[in-house]
Amino acid sequence: MRDQAYLDWPFFEPRHRKLAHDLEAWARHHLTAHLEPDTDQACRRLVRLLGAGGWTRYAVGGPAYGGMREQIDTRAVCLIREALAYHQGLADFAFAMQGLGSGAISLHGSPEQKARYLGPVARGESIAAFALSEPEAGSDVGALCTEARAEGQNYILNGQKTWISNGGIADFYVVFARAPGSQGTKGISAFVVEAGTPGLEVAERIEVIAPHPLATLRFNHCRVPAHQRLGEEGQGFKIAMQTLDIFRTSVAAAALGFARRALDEALYRATTRALFGQTLADFQLTQARLADMAVKVDAAALLTYRAAWLRDQGQRVTQEAAMAKLTATEYAQQVVDGAVQLWGGLGVTRGQVVESLYREIRALRIYEGASEVQQLIIARELLKHFKETQTVKGGIGDGV
Ligand SMILES: Cc1cc2nc3c(=O)[nH]c(=O)nc-3n(C[C@H](O)[C@H](O)[C@H](O)COP(=O)(O)OP(=O)(O)OC[C@H]3O[C@@H](n4cnc5c(N)ncnc54)[C@H](O)[C@@H]3O)c2cc1C
Repeated sequence: MRDQAYLDWPFFEPRHRKLAHDLEAWARHHLTAHLEPDTDQACRRLVRLLGAGGWTRYAVGGPAYGGMREQIDTRAVCLIREALAYHQGLADFAFAMQGLGSGAISLHGSPEQKARYLGPVARGESIAAFALSEPEAGSDVGALCTEARAEGQNYILNGQKTWISNGGIADFYVVFARAPGSQGTKGISAFVVEAGTPGLEVAERIEVIAPHPLATLRFNHCRVPAHQRLGEEGQGFKIAMQTLDIFRTSVAAAALGFARRALDEALYRATTRALFGQTLADFQLTQARLADMAVKVDAAALLTYRAAWLRDQGQRVTQEAAMAKLTATEYAQQVVDGAVQLWGGLGVTRGQVVESLYREIRALRIYEGASEVQQLIIARELLKHFKETQTVKGGIGDGV
């Protein structure tokens, strides 16, 4: 039985504890260790399953449109991602993308856009995707060059997006593109482009170490009606960042789920593997490793749920979310690696849980802001705050 004692922490309300207990029982029953070999098929099935279970409702804002609450409940989203990642990486991916792919609509959609797209996403009947990155614009979002040229009641999109999760199976894409001649983060707008729109083509499917649907998209004179624009013209960068702000903390939660599973697998193996006349867990070197893993799991959990709780209090969490993502993903990588080491040769054998965790965790240190980007965000916020609060003479640095 998974230890959920952390649910007693003060970050949570009774509804979160109930959600976590219910989801745990559901996941044990519905998420099998072995998936069908066709990842697209597996992902579609998981989205439907998560929808039928009522979980994807948490990924969407607004009860009028199928969402669980008016504002997306960050703690609920984090608890869900943590539990799904613990049981099955692809289920976490399927849930997360429903949120990331529709987040801009929850935040900035018109009532008509919300009515058309959010309900089916919340019910797991429609698959969403978020198309920001380009071959020459990953960390440097302001370098994106997909163009949206206004023409009468339409925009004409030309360009390329890459690393697009759910690319190839999504029913719609939230696409970020810039006005001709605009530069940097200015002049970018967001559009909902439905799969099958003439001029939108899945140019290439990308295979990654932990199989997920992923693709490069090409826009070739793709005509998108003006009413498919989200928010105001030129607000696209802000919309993208606000969407990422909700879900960045949840990437930390997914990493935490992988790390908790790795720690449990490590404890199991250490206490059952006999060698040199005792068990692996009887060696102090093993105990030191296990202690280090447990500290990292708790540190990641505290930072993750602090950021989620603060956001649910209506606070800006740029720094806290960056701290959570940086710590949880970097630590999870180390915890998973520790578990693989304890499993020995079996740890690198295809089909073992720790082997799949080793592949699952890697991309989380890169996407939705690489670790270095999170460090820069934390330092920027820290310096800004210091400069704002240390203006009075007689403070720090004046000597004794
Ligand atoms: C599995 C997966 C799924 C993804 N899904 C999506 C999606 O659904 N939608 C979407 O739009 N994008 C998606 N992405 C793209 C992802 O957001 C980018 O890969 C990420 O932003 C990094 O961009 P890049 O790959 O171009 O690397 P680059 O921007 O070239 O960065 C390479 C490396 O440089 C380092 N670095 C970056 N900035 C700095 C800096 N300022 N100082 C020092 N070092 C730095 C980091 O270590 C980084 O990993 C996905 C990526 C992956 C791997």
